[in-house]
Amino acid sequence: MDALKELADRKGVADVLEQIASFLELRGENPFRIRAFRTAARAVAGFPGDLRQAIEDGSLASTKGVGPATLQIVTELVATGRASMLEELREQIPPGLVEMLAISGLGVAKIRQIHDVLGIDSLPELEAAAHDGRLAKLPRFGQKTSENILKGIAYLRQASTFRLSHHAAEEAEGLRAALQQLPGVSRAIVAGEVRRRSEVVRDLILVLVADVPPAELFKQLSQYPGVHEFAGQDERRLTLRFAGGASAQIVVTSPVNAGAVVAQATGSEAHLRELAAFAATRGFALNGAALWRGSEFVSTPDEERFYSALGLPIIPPELREGRGEVEAAARGALPRLLETRDLRGFLHCHTTYSDGSNSVEELALACRACGYSYVGITDHSQAAAYAGGLKPDDLRRQSDEIDEVNARLEGIRVLKGVEADILQDGRIDFESGILERLDFVIASVHSRFNMGAAEMTARILAAMDNPYLTIIGHPTGRLLLSRDPYGLDLEAVIEKAAATGVALEVNADPHRLDLDWRILRSVREAGALISIGADAHSAGTISNVEYGVAMARKGWLGRDDILNARPLDEFLAYARRRRG
Ligand SMILES: [Zn+2]
Ligand SMILES: [Zn+2]
Repeated sequence: MDALKELADRKGVADVLEQIASFLELRGENPFRIRAFRTAARAVAGFPGDLRQAIEDGSLASTKGVGPATLQIVTELVATGRASMLEELREQIPPGLVEMLAISGLGVAKIRQIHDVLGIDSLPELEAAAHDGRLAKLPRFGQKTSENILKGIAYLRQASTFRLSHHAAEEAEGLRAALQQLPGVSRAIVAGEVRRRSEVVRDLILVLVADVPPAELFKQLSQYPGVHEFAGQDERRLTLRFAGGASAQIVVTSPVNAGAVVAQATGSEAHLRELAAFAATRGFALNGAALWRGSEFVSTPDEERFYSALGLPIIPPELREGRGEVEAAARGALPRLLETRDLRGFLHCHTTYSDGSNSVEELALACRACGYSYVGITDHSQAAAYAGGLKPDDLRRQSDEIDEVNARLEGIRVLKGVEADILQDGRIDFESGILERLDFVIASVHSRFNMGAAEMTARILAAMDNPYLTIIGHPTGRLLLSRDPYGLDLEAVIEKAAATGVALEVNADPHRLDLDWRILRSVREAGALISIGADAHSAGTISNVEYGVAMARKGWLGRDDILNARPLDEFLAYARRRRG
């Protein structure tokens, strides 16, 4: 359980430092001082090991990013669980103003204006002022800002209930490893949305397989110092809340029933409904998280035996969304799903030429080490000035460098590509003379997200007429939990992708995961190909690709549906095919 305590400690301390930074910001304090607290929060969150010990042996004091002022706060927090600086600040600032800081697009200056002019210091009041027009009338606000603030409030509410998949997975795994150590627990299993690889996660759910009575386990958990609040729903389930704000549902089961319990805790509800209906036709019932045949309890020590008792093969968790998977399993027609090792090419990555942090060679070596046979370098184009977009000359320099790297390295081929902006009128941000020297081209929308759906659709369809285009990058532009997809006739784009042989990306950045997995089956049915794009900005984010693969799996896709699962020569032929 030490790992759990350490995790809760670090997260709690980092949260306090972050909060202090925001409070100082609201009071208009020195930006350097504010930044120092944010840096320290990150340093503490990423600190490997026990804070208490690191304070004692002096290793925290010598950690980069931790200064004397923050060290004092961390020491106080670890010793007493309180931070007097935070408490003093809290007394001076209305809590509603602090919440407003988290609304995207609403900076400190505007918050102060809202507070000073309209006397508003809570989110409900802010919402009312946006609705009745008071907000739009403030100097430098206007209707648009007012609308964005309303959207921001809605997102804030959503973001406080949901977390992104990579954060959830990390949190769940940290908990799992810690709970696994509890006396009497033989297995701790992550279930729920994390196991189904949902793109956003509301509930962390873990199953503990234990030989001891649940009440005994609950007692241990409730007394644990990292646990802040403890709520038992019934004799087998409880919710834990940790000091840092994280929470998780814990389900306890005896080994003999583990399969049925894990399946139920994994869900989804829609899947379980399909499953229950199917079970009924075979004389089974799912009752009290156990499988019964009439009045006879059916032993299900693991999921494999749970599904096979029903006459089904085990259904991959990603498919358990109630989209016909039970019926497919019963017919023996479950798809063979994509696996990361099916990917031959690593596509969509940014180097130091634009906004990435590694060189061409470093990325090539990292991709080779992961078993890829080719890597497609795709830095930003000139229109993306904010991201260090490349001018034609830069692209030429990069091309020479790629030739050099290819001459030097064995076992991986570096491809010349670009992530070119789709300009407002649908042109791609480089002339044909430049594009024709590349092995393949990704084009993405990075500007003017707010144009109408008809205009945006025309813009993207026009780009697809460019014979050098290989892949449309992050086709709907969504940012999970922070920005909606732009208005777009996605069906028209899919249809055109099939007709023109342009692939559509599943962008694997866990903030995007765009296209949405729910649309992927219709992409395949239309006859278009999917490309898994890592959108890696460093060698350290190469494993993002796993999130893209998970989306493909949730969309029932297999190796044949994926462009970069093809070997190098087939990939190059695909990219050249349209050039005539
Ligand atoms: Zn992009
Ligand atoms: Zn990108």
